[in-house]
Amino acid sequence: MPTALVDYHVHTARCGHATGAMERYVEHAIEAGLSELGFSDHLFMYWLPPDRRDPELGMAEWEHDFYIEDVERCRARYASDITIRLSTEADFIPGHERELESILRAHDWDYVIGSVHFIGEWGFDDSRNLTGFLDWDIDALYAQYFELVGASAETGLFDTIGHADLVKKFAHRPLTDQCEAYTRLAARFAAAGVCVEVNTAGLRKPVGEIYPHPDLLRACHAAGVPVTLGSDAHAPNEVAADLAAATELMRGVGYDAFVRYARRERKKSPLVTMEREGSR
Ligand SMILES: [Zn+2]
Ligand SMILES: [Zn+2]
Repeated sequence: MPTALVDYHVHTARCGHATGAMERYVEHAIEAGLSELGFSDHLFMYWLPPDRRDPELGMAEWEHDFYIEDVERCRARYASDITIRLSTEADFIPGHERELESILRAHDWDYVIGSVHFIGEWGFDDSRNLTGFLDWDIDALYAQYFELVGASAETGLFDTIGHADLVKKFAHRPLTDQCEAYTRLAARFAAAGVCVEVNTAGLRKPVGEIYPHPDLLRACHAAGVPVTLGSDAHAPNEVAADLAAATELMRGVGYDAFVRYARRERKKSPLVTMEREGSR
């Protein structure tokens, strides 16, 4: 019997930094025994004028409707094998909430992931921009980053908060204890009613850890924040990667359920155990 887990964070070649046909992503998800795959490609860089948008960071605005058609095509083609969800990973950029709201309103998403990839103009998770870390005191950077993540939850635009401690990606670790910051952030998530994803991509990055940190996930559990699962796949063979490790982490901090989405409605599912071979 296949596991009933989901992978709710999956990109496509349209974003400019992922590879492979969407069908291959779906087929990999079926092989891995998932019950649902959610395509959540990067939304176009809506907050910048078109000539300043980086084609390596997000799809072009004209591609947006084609992306949605592609997801719907996959959904129909594989309907008897797997449920396919329509999502997008949207950047949170303070001051641009109303633009984002009107873009999101035009489509029938199953869920929307809100992510902080930028602090001001600095795309801190982009390996081309690593020198930016030299300008920061690391603890001040963490504080600023968590402030933005908390604010993203409070916009009400997002169902799920993406990789809630992405700032650690390149293994720049905080020097001070983050427990209080984690508790505060988890309380903001709970009050805002968002869900947090357990994202395995960090295992494939210099930090070598799932997002979020076990202590942050524990704080989320204590605050009653629900969770989803995502690989942040940028290639077909990354779909479902390390979901066994993710469920182990979730159980370890007390979760026995995760949430699924359909048309922005949440439903709880029991956390099944997955064979430890997710990352083929
Ligand atoms: Zn992201
Ligand atoms: Zn992503």
